[in-house]
Amino acid sequence: MTFATDIEIARAATKKPIQQIGEALGIPAEHLLPYGHDKAKVSQDFIDGLEGRENGKLILVTAINPTPAGEGKTTTTVGLGDGLNRIGKKAAICIREASLGPNFGMKGGAAGGGRAQVVPMEDMNLHFTGDFHAITSAHNLLSAMIDNHIYWGNELGIDERRVVWRRVMDMNDRALRDIVTSLGGVANGYPRQTGFDITVASEVMAILCLAADLDDLQRRLGDMIVAYRRDKSPVFARDIKADGAMTVLLKDAMQPNLVQTLENNPAFVHGGPFANIAHGCNSVIATKTALKLADYVVTEAGFGADLGAEKFMNIKCRKAGLAPDVVVLVATVRAMKMNGGVAKADLGAENVAAVEAGCPNLGRHIGNLKSFGVPVVVAINHFVTDTDAEVEAVRDFVAAQGAEAILCRHWEKGGEGIEALATRVAEIADSGVSQFAPLYPDDMPLLEKIETVAREVYHADAVVADKTVRDQLAAWEEAGYGSLPVCMAKTQYSFSTDPGQRGAPTGFDVPIREVRLSAGAGFVVAICGQIMTMPGLPRRPSAEAIRLNDAGDVEGLF
Ligand code: ADP
Ligand code: MG
Repeated sequence: MTFATDIEIARAATKKPIQQIGEALGIPAEHLLPYGHDKAKVSQDFIDGLEGRENGKLILVTAINPTPAGEGKTTTTVGLGDGLNRIGKKAAICIREASLGPNFGMKGGAAGGGRAQVVPMEDMNLHFTGDFHAITSAHNLLSAMIDNHIYWGNELGIDERRVVWRRVMDMNDRALRDIVTSLGGVANGYPRQTGFDITVASEVMAILCLAADLDDLQRRLGDMIVAYRRDKSPVFARDIKADGAMTVLLKDAMQPNLVQTLENNPAFVHGGPFANIAHGCNSVIATKTALKLADYVVTEAGFGADLGAEKFMNIKCRKAGLAPDVVVLVATVRAMKMNGGVAKADLGAENVAAVEAGCPNLGRHIGNLKSFGVPVVVAINHFVTDTDAEVEAVRDFVAAQGAEAILCRHWEKGGEGIEALATRVAEIADSGVSQFAPLYPDDMPLLEKIETVAREVYHADAVVADKTVRDQLAAWEEAGYGSLPVCMAKTQYSFSTDPGQRGAPTGFDVPIREVRLSAGAGFVVAICGQIMTMPGLPRRPSAEAIRLNDAGDVEGLF
């Protein structure tokens, strides 16, 4: 059997004018700011007018620990949105925007796959509506203003060795990770060591995704710590007087983007923070807008549930006052097999024993999600190579956990292939059984918050943090940051900090190598392992195969 590629399917889509998509949600055409014919931003004025309306139900899509076999969270988010619409529900989806860098490195976009995609997928995976360029510009404006402040006499007394604000760009470029700026003489300023991160790692990105409105955006931008003085006191972006101009650069980017699925259902695609040093979910403003306009909103959290769902609940929901009504946990037979020890090359052969051996990973995620008080349904994202016996093995395992697994064929069939899940999820959401609560209270000490996540979500024995880390956390508590949630930066491939430990490992500690304060975004990052904030390109970057064909279409992107 051969299947069309994602881009072939996307290109063949019959799109509706974006005004029609907006109209179905009750957005008047004058409140859509069109970018071409198939993309639009929803105006801030319209969003402001939605306050007081009732909210729809919130459905979170998350997954088991990722494996190279692929899980399909975005594909399932898009498919479920289409499935809900097919059974007559008014549903919208909310997902993240794509970063340019990875698209030119490793193959794979961010718009879903097969018959469950958001279109126009080329735009979505390239410049889209320019939000990431705006974020890059706002970030780098602040960088320029800091160096300029030092150049003109350094009134604030910034210690040039302690400037923590770097530069960003939306490209994988390892050459820029560590650099020296201001070489070339007095006129060019004071040489200092710094570097570039990828745009999605910028705190500005995290802020855009958590801010309630433009005032909140500006306040949070001002709260960012950019440097320290010799006495170690912080210098804020507000002290540099950059927050106003940054807000101006971001005012359009703050408005959520509306596009459509292959089945012409509404999709909000907005924001895209890293899922390690940030929280990895689309913007609060998009989710809240969608909840006012649709009866059901399906959204996705990055990585596996131990990272993505944990942060969705403990950071995004806590801070934005959101609460999921039901959680869909995506699992695949292939990933179960890999968790059960099968190599990627051998995934084609039926292997029920390996599926069973991998299922404890799924089981632990089910238990963890239930500990947040939310009902969980497992979506088995069907690959055409899966055998009935393998699917049954997953279903039986899930049933033994007191949960329910539903086979979904949205990748192959679109909304039609996922009606059973849509029906069940709507039923659970409507029943109001969810009793969501974050895992820890605001007033718990920062280290205890880290320990709570490590113990209850990762099932670790202990957290190992040396005196420097403990002292730093204590100092932040002293400075008034103690009530912030923690943002765990850990490998996505394992519950532990060792990416090689698949399944449901026990008997391990979680070492905290470093902690960072994102004072504007409003969380404390706990880094447990190597975290790359500027990726590199692989030996054969996918950029080598990307080109325009004779018809002017993009080839080789996916
Ligand atoms: P995630 O959001 O979990 O990172 P995506 O939904 O983006 O994953 O899917 C990753 C890749 O896997 C995409 O290229 C998609 O087309 C593919 N994929 C997803 N589900 C299936 C499936 N059921 N069969 C075949 N390929 C799939
Ligand atoms: Mg995804």
